[in-house]
Amino acid sequence: MFSPFGAPAERNFVVGLRMQILDGKKAAQSIKDDLRIEVAQRANEGKKIPHLAAILVGNNGASETYVAAKVKACEETGFKSTLVRLADDISEFKLLEVIEDLNENTDVDGILVQLPLPKHISSKKVINAINPDKDVDGFHPMSVGKMVEGLPTFIPATPYGIMLLLEHYKIETKGKHAVVIGRSNIVGRPMSILLSGNSNPGNCTVTICHSHTQNLKEICLQGDIIVAALGIPEFVKPDMVKPGAVIIDVGITRVADSTRKSGFKLKGDVEYDTVAPSTSWITPVPGGVGPMTIAALMKNTFMSCKNKND
Ligand code: NAD
Repeated sequence: MFSPFGAPAERNFVVGLRMQILDGKKAAQSIKDDLRIEVAQRANEGKKIPHLAAILVGNNGASETYVAAKVKACEETGFKSTLVRLADDISEFKLLEVIEDLNENTDVDGILVQLPLPKHISSKKVINAINPDKDVDGFHPMSVGKMVEGLPTFIPATPYGIMLLLEHYKIETKGKHAVVIGRSNIVGRPMSILLSGNSNPGNCTVTICHSHTQNLKEICLQGDIIVAALGIPEFVKPDMVKPGAVIIDVGITRVADSTRKSGFKLKGDVEYDTVAPSTSWITPVPGGVGPMTIAALMKNTFMSCKNKND
């Protein structure tokens, strides 16, 4: 099976190790540093520079933050970026026209539409309208099908970022039992496919859990690796986690906090303070999966640019 995650490396998963942080901020920075060098080299050679176009509909605070972080990452790596801001009452037809324009724009390598979209717009229709060759979020059915087959393609940024993080820290995954909580098309389901793939990282035995799963606690207790992606703050408690497990916390929820200027703080799906001490590795929130998602998006955009222009 195609592995986008590089050559096998020695792993250091040992149950009972002192807890260590899977630092997504650091790992993402090293990926962006490498990309910046490659982009500068392309510029020197007169080759095309990657160009990411992001569409933001409405003014949802969290979406604004995510898109701003993506644009900033483009600046840091030397990519070109275009931010298309649209009013939240834009018609679905008009949005599809904007996507069509970007599909036809030969300078644009990657198109992303920040989700969620307003209720009157079908996300499915919008995702399906993106040219699969520019589908750097990896949500188009063509990309998903290729990913399932293990063919080279754009992999959804969050699961791809998690695979890159596991690779960066040389976490042993082969033969491990991974429990993925959440089955969304953007996180849980692709995560379960990647972890079960014949690749490195990968080769896990995967259990995917969701809102109808029974005995979730017992299942989690069997997990050597737990990926929590359900969007319920501090859902995973210490009595659900086997000592020495690797914990990947995908959740990001804004929880009211009057002591902060912003009025909120970010909470993951894992009760970090109580769970962390008995784990071998754990991602913090913020600073874990979030930055890796952006680094993975940059990698997809870079790949798109190379595929189309070299
Ligand atoms: P979603 O709402 O689409 O899916 C949530 C999933 O959790 C569903 O499949 C549901 O069945 C499952 N679920 C809900 N309650 C459950 C329960 N009690 N027990 C077991 N399963 C349950 O969410 P999503 O888009 O996959 O996002 C999940 C979380 O990850 C959110 O907090 C989101 O903000 C965050 N997220 C973070 C990043 C990042 O870059 N860090 C990216 C995407 C999403």
